[in-house]
Amino acid sequence: MRRVRALGQLLALIHEEGVSSRAELTARLALSRSAMGTLLAELEDLGLVQVDETSPRRRAGVGRPSHVVRIDPDGPVALAVQLQADSFLVADVGLGGSLRDLTAVPLPPEQRADVDSVLDLIIDVVVGRLRQSRRRVVGVGVAVPGLVSRYDGFVQRAVPLRWVGVPLAQRLGEGLAQQPGTAWPLVANDEDLAALAEHRHGSGRGSRYQLWLAHEHLGLGGALVIEGELYLGSAGFAMEAGHLVVNPHGRTCWCGSTGCLETEVAQIGLLRSADRDVPDVPDLAGAVDQLLADAAAGDDAAVLAVQRAGRYLGIGLGTLVNILNPDRIVVGALLARLIDFAEAVVTEHIRERSLVGAAAEVPIVAGKLERPALVGAGDLALQALLDDPAIAGRLPAARRAATPS
Ligand SMILES: [Zn+2]
Repeated sequence: MRRVRALGQLLALIHEEGVSSRAELTARLALSRSAMGTLLAELEDLGLVQVDETSPRRRAGVGRPSHVVRIDPDGPVALAVQLQADSFLVADVGLGGSLRDLTAVPLPPEQRADVDSVLDLIIDVVVGRLRQSRRRVVGVGVAVPGLVSRYDGFVQRAVPLRWVGVPLAQRLGEGLAQQPGTAWPLVANDEDLAALAEHRHGSGRGSRYQLWLAHEHLGLGGALVIEGELYLGSAGFAMEAGHLVVNPHGRTCWCGSTGCLETEVAQIGLLRSADRDVPDVPDLAGAVDQLLADAAAGDDAAVLAVQRAGRYLGIGLGTLVNILNPDRIVVGALLARLIDFAEAVVTEHIRERSLVGAAAEVPIVAGKLERPALVGAGDLALQALLDDPAIAGRLPAARRAATPS
């Protein structure tokens, strides 16, 4: 049992570090050289890592050369799915958080309202990918823009999809049972998964209390990663930061409250503040891009809208910093752009509300990953491999070549 744990710890470290030297790994895990040699040989035999014996890497010319350890490019992957308002994404996620073969499957407007038809389409696509995969597949992880119970994958509500009460993990699990050897799918909230991926592979690495905040697609979500673990709450619904009230006289939110961070700061709010039309989802991101570009060019209404959003973001972040005391705040791409533009007003409002001076100095950094929720969905399914790397030896063999149908 201790050996399984040591093997898992080593694989988790390589998973998060990417390429590493054998000497660094040995020091980080406080192992002897021979114990490290045995563990690495086992991971190599399982087709999980490669140890480069031929080109040792010297560190700044001092010390003795050490072998380079990297993820085996033919190693197992997780199949990651991310549901969005108008489409879903599917990709292979390998150890190290590498994303490959990304496909976007559009959901035509007439199909979106019919949950059964959307689920059938996802199952078809996923089964097709599993059948054709040239790499061993550990399992399927799914990111959902909504309230999801992490314990049974039940979607309570997903506003962008207009879903209420969908037993997603169960439905997908039944559908995927036609593909023997496939593990039960794991389902989680997209912002939770994005936060986890940034913590493991992106801008949150090394932080102990990482607050994540992002607005993508329609809403605004948050998550908290404490000592490497997501804070989920008793039922898995914690950290709905988008529904923190920042303006009691603000706009009505779908959640029933008024002036939530989401309604005051997210895309629709931004466009409304500038008296602009709010297009349907496929064109929403472009409209917000245009608004930010116009603000940068000095358009008065656009500047006011962005400054207004910055003020409410600062109020929300100030409250979150007081309650959670994070050591780093990582934000999604769109929020990072908004903060870039309205940095003075955002930090002024955080500082105004900070009870402790130092709390106002918490660094706010942009996320590094292009598709953090998708990488996180992969991480969710890869966890089984990190818990017990030996399962790699029991996974169904990969297709060596595409078989003509
Ligand atoms: Zn709300």
